[in-house]
Amino acid sequence: MNKRRVTMPVYVGDVKVGGGADISVQSMTKTDTRDVAATVRQIHELEEAGCEIIRSAVPDMEAAKAMRDIKEQIRIPLIADIHFHYQLALECADGGVDCLRLNPGNLRNEDQVRLVVEKAKERNIPIRIGVNFGSLPPVGGIGRTRGFSRHMDMVNRLPKAGEATAGQYSIVDHMLATALWEIGFLERNDFDNIKISMKAFDVPTTVEAYRRLAEMVPYPLHLGITEAGTVQAGSIRTAVGLGVLLYEGIGDTIRVSLSGDSKDEVVAGYEILKSLNLRDKGVTLVACPSCGRADVDVVKLANEVDALVKQNNKNIKVAVMGCEVNGPGEAKDADVGIAAGAGRAIIFRKGEKVRVVPEAEMLTALMEEVDRIPA
Ligand code: SF4
Repeated sequence: MNKRRVTMPVYVGDVKVGGGADISVQSMTKTDTRDVAATVRQIHELEEAGCEIIRSAVPDMEAAKAMRDIKEQIRIPLIADIHFHYQLALECADGGVDCLRLNPGNLRNEDQVRLVVEKAKERNIPIRIGVNFGSLPPVGGIGRTRGFSRHMDMVNRLPKAGEATAGQYSIVDHMLATALWEIGFLERNDFDNIKISMKAFDVPTTVEAYRRLAEMVPYPLHLGITEAGTVQAGSIRTAVGLGVLLYEGIGDTIRVSLSGDSKDEVVAGYEILKSLNLRDKGVTLVACPSCGRADVDVVKLANEVDALVKQNNKNIKVAVMGCEVNGPGEAKDADVGIAAGAGRAIIFRKGEKVRVVPEAEMLTALMEEVDRIPA
């Protein structure tokens, strides 16, 4: 695995992003932002699940004004997600949000962006340049606001990663040019409190866009696969794309976008980071898939243990294995584990047997051993 890319840190509230900080896990609220009570409730649930930075969509001025009330009632940093209207960014910044996400695909008027930059400087908050495959500026229209029609933008005609022939302008080139336009504009306005995302649904396109940008700028990168899908398919798609980049040392903060409960986004985010040993977060469950040797219903047992250990914040590995023959050996790495046998179970630590208990007591015994491990 590559060393992590060196980046200039930015601070989203009190969360450091880049500059060697832990890779943070973000999510987005799915409530109507104008409904302050519902949005705050959802953010509290996400805080509980371990979400470290939250973003809310700001579609209109009522939502922008609501951000002030939301901010006052939550603990984690709040990002305002802005498209089209610079005035919404100004209002949110004055309301105390911790970061502004601007879409260079639909906020392209330099006079307007300059006003937002001045406001971000005044409030000392970063701007995320959020390039998104689904809302790129028209080809030839980067940083320009007139003379283009969304229906004739030509973006969909551009070849994706792997499809372009040598010298052909591709979708990745267009994503990069879009990001670099806004980066250059912010830098010319003496602003470098920047992080950037380059999201697409297509994994090879996303990977190539981030890789190429990572070589060009020193800013931290927010990773994500856009519109990734439902909880299962979207988590896998995101894990594949982000896994490649994180393994290469690219990425400073992540969001898993799922058509599902935002808490699942947080869980998936940590699982991706835990798979690469980039974060510890609570118990990691090692569970065998079961096979013809299994003496108990491993799937049921694993789910029961999963539900129990979720309430535990210790950064440890707990194994659930279906047989005594191979279980302890296959899960040598686990801090504590259970290998079920006919009518009994072995409790083991780091592959060594420590106790044998009747099947009826195996869950209680396992949790006792978990409790014995110092926090
Ligand atoms: S631990 Fe035992 S039951 Fe589970 S997959 Fe391995 S051999 Fe099969």
